[in-house]
This record gives sequence, C-alpha cells and structure tokens, in this order.
Amino acid sequence: MKNMDKIREAARDPYGYAESYKTRTHKKVVGYFCSYAPEEIIWAAGALPLRIFSRKSGIHLADRHLQSYCCSLVRGVLEDALSGELKFLDGVVFPHTCDSIQRLSDIWRLNVPYGFHTDVVLPVKLNTDSAGEYMINVLKAFRAALEKKLDVTISDDALRASMELYGRLRGMLGQIYEMRAQNPDAVSGSDVYSIMKAAMVMDRQELLALLNEAVLELKQKKSAGAAICRKRVVLSGGICDFPDVYPMIEEAGGAVVWDDLCMGTRTFAGDFAEKKDPIEAIAGRYLERIVCPAKHSGLTNRADNLVKMVRERDAQGVIILLLKFCDPHAFDYPYLKNALDKEGIPNLLLEVEDQLPPEGQLRTRFEAFLEML
Ligand code: SF4
Ligand code: SF4
Repeated sequence: MKNMDKIREAARDPYGYAESYKTRTHKKVVGYFCSYAPEEIIWAAGALPLRIFSRKSGIHLADRHLQSYCCSLVRGVLEDALSGELKFLDGVVFPHTCDSIQRLSDIWRLNVPYGFHTDVVLPVKLNTDSAGEYMINVLKAFRAALEKKLDVTISDDALRASMELYGRLRGMLGQIYEMRAQNPDAVSGSDVYSIMKAAMVMDRQELLALLNEAVLELKQKKSAGAAICRKRVVLSGGICDFPDVYPMIEEAGGAVVWDDLCMGTRTFAGDFAEKKDPIEAIAGRYLERIVCPAKHSGLTNRADNLVKMVRERDAQGVIILLLKFCDPHAFDYPYLKNALDKEGIPNLLLEVEDQLPPEGQLRTRFEAFLEML
C-alpha cells in the first residue's frame, strides 16, 4: 500500500517530514504539544501544525533544566529543542494543561533561541458558567497573537475552511476506528498508530487524500478476510508513542479495538459547536469533548466514558499505559481502576517510559493478561 508507506514514514520521522515539507512548500511550521492546542487556527494561518514527539535520544542538555522525575516526553522534547533538532520550527504553542507542559513553556521561552513562543491559557474547569466565555476570549487572543507572529490575517473564511478540513479528517479517522472495532484484522494496530500520528504531523489535506484511498483498500480487505477471534481490549492513557505495543498485543492473541489516548480518540472526538462565529464553534468542541486528566468536567466523567467505551465496543478488558512521572494520569488511575473493578472489567496497569521495558517482560505481561480474559 503505497499510501500507507508515506503515512508510516511521516509517523516514523516527523521532524524529517516537516523539514522537507518546509523546503517543498515554503510554508511555516508551528509546533504544539497537546490535543488542547487549537490546530484549526494554526492551519487557517497557513502554517503546518506539528505535534512534537520526542526523538527519544539520550537526555543530556535537558537535565540542566528539568528534574529526572519529569515525564520522559517533556524531557525528550526539551532535549530535541536544546540540541537544535527543532530549529526548523517557526514557533511553538503551549496549551495550559499539565504542570510539566506549563513549566516546559517557561524553560523554552528562556532557553530556546529560535521560533516564536506563545501560551494558550485555556480554562481548567470546563463545566462552569464562565468557562465558555473564557475559552472563547483565550482563543480570540491566540488568533490575534498568531496573526502578529506569522504576519498574516486569519479570516473567518479561512477558519471555516480549516474547520471543514479538520471535520472531514476527523470523520475519516473515526471511520478507520469503527472498521477496526468491527474487524480488528482489517487494519493492524501499528498502522492505526501511524495514521493517528501522521494526523498530527502531515499536511492535513495531503493526508486526507491518502486516507481516502487507503480506506477503500481497507474496506475491500475487510470483506475479503474472515474475522479471527481475538481478545478485545481498550487502551487508555495519555500519549502512546509506542508502535511496538500493538504487534505484541496482537501476537499474544489480542487486539486493541478502541482507545482513550491523546494520540487516539482524543484527536478526532467531538464536533464543532453549531455557532456562526468559527472561534465559538472551535471553543464548543473543547468544552464538550471528554476531558483528559489535565482538565475537569465532572467527577466521574472520564471513568464513565471509559466504561461506556468498553461496553459499546464489546471489549473484554482495559490496558492502562501510564507514562512514568505523568502526574495527571497517575492521579486519575485509582479512580479509573475502581470504576472498572466495580463494573467487573479486568484491567492491567503498565508503567512505561520512552524506552519500553525489555520486550520479553512486556510480552509476558500482555500474554498473562489476555489469557486471563
Ligand atoms: S493528557 Fe491531556 S494534557 Fe497531557 S498531552 Fe494529553 S491532552 Fe494534553
Ligand atoms: S500529560 Fe503527562 S505525559 Fe503528557 S506532558 Fe503532561 S506529564 Fe507528560
């Protein structure tokens, strides 16, 4: 599948993709760190929004600024920035989410000598009377800041065109997830991983065209092959930049049929609000989307959603991937576990770092869990 090869390559080397994109198109590239960064506004400004994943090389320079008990994602991206690997970036956007990203923002502003820096201080509690108005004002301020930094005008029409593109892309990603949930052998977990990562890296227009064809091929494959009986699991956590996890689960007789990840459903979940003003429509999506642990919208919102996900997708268990030293997810874990236990849903906690534990060790844990389902 030629299309998938391009997608896999962009997911394998996002920085390489972005650098060649810049050379090819002469467009700007704006980095971001989290699914609360308003990508649609960046795209409407004529720039490529690039989610920054660490290259996972050794940490040397970042250790001068961050304690070793910060998550490996934040330490890794700071290392990449300080070592000049991200020099091609025209700027970086820091959404106000977990403490680590907020502190990274300060360190970046003071120590990274290239590209602009801007914060997007979205509200933390999303279910209050004032959250909507606050969110809209923050996004308007971000639009104005981006116009200034990129020296462009972001028109309402450009915003609507960007929202239309993102709507179609997210719809396509949702379709791929549905297809996999119905027949996990129609598309491998590592290909879904590559598609989701590419959706945060590639030219969104180009990716949508590639996916249109790829989905047609997948549909043919789906009707051609008989479904294999696999143990169905939901993956939950934050970022999951671990392509090796998927084949290991599949080789152990399981399949990830849905997820609750920043690199997964949080990327495409939620519709724009039906508002005339595009900024209000974008704000509406953030307010309604199921929260990640760095935001608040009701005491049991995330657990209710996770249980619903398991039931709706006919899953037999949940694997929670916890990035070491990720406080927001660690704080959420006990209550998520309680909710799953109460519902009789088997669950497994795996604490991981940028470098996964030895393959044999991980494989044994997956096999033991799947056997028990
Ligand atoms: S868990 Fe939340 S704060 Fe962390 S990267 Fe994901 S969306 Fe952003
Ligand atoms: S949410 Fe967790 S993994 Fe993501 S940047 Fe924050 S501390 Fe790191």
